[in-house]
Amino acid sequence: MSEQELRRKIVAVGKKAFDYKLLSGTWGNISARFGKGRMLITPSGFEKAALKPSDIILMDLEGNILKGKWKPSSEMPMHSLIYKTREDVNAIIHTHSYYAIALAVAGQEIPVLTSEFASAVGHNVPVTRYVTSGTREFAEEVVRTLGEGKAVLLRNHGVVAVGDSLEDAFQTALLVEDEARTFILASSLGYAKPLDLNEVKKLREAYLKSYGQEKRRLNLRL
Ligand code: 13P
Ligand code: ZN
Repeated sequence: MSEQELRRKIVAVGKKAFDYKLLSGTWGNISARFGKGRMLITPSGFEKAALKPSDIILMDLEGNILKGKWKPSSEMPMHSLIYKTREDVNAIIHTHSYYAIALAVAGQEIPVLTSEFASAVGHNVPVTRYVTSGTREFAEEVVRTLGEGKAVLLRNHGVVAVGDSLEDAFQTALLVEDEARTFILASSLGYAKPLDLNEVKKLREAYLKSYGQEKRRLNLRL
């Protein structure tokens, strides 16, 4: 994919994340891997629904700006460390969605409750320890807690979702918020029983094998 197309898609994800109420104010950030050892990332302190492709910054994974007029996201160390440690990850979205944050404040992981979450994510979403965001220690804690997974809750802060594409990372961020809401609502009814682990595995395998179209599993309008 060309640099311009990837810039356009990051902008589209920012808009979509606002439409789905995954972000508010200037919070959250988005990035995509671009070639070996490089990424495109949103600037710090911007409302992510109002970005232009030229606002996105091209950087290497050592923190050097290669192209761009703005200061990069304050979470740049976390984005870089995820790309360095997870070769399968090509896109990252950090959101501040309401129900997921409520669980992150409570230190409560999200269990797999629904078939769609089992299919598209396939694991419980763990919670990090509380660490000051933007620091190297925070980046390390996120990477450690994320492990091989697709999403993590940031204690007293928000969500990080990763994927092999921007579509995949966005869909995961959306499903994390949906599953968090389902968990809170079902718990209030006194019954939030997680799906059986074998069933989760079965649904995940079937999804990876045959969901969506052969070349594009997720046809989101980005
Ligand atoms: P940036 O605007 O610097 O990306 O920061 C937003 C945020 O959510 C920090 O955790
Ligand atoms: Zn944040």
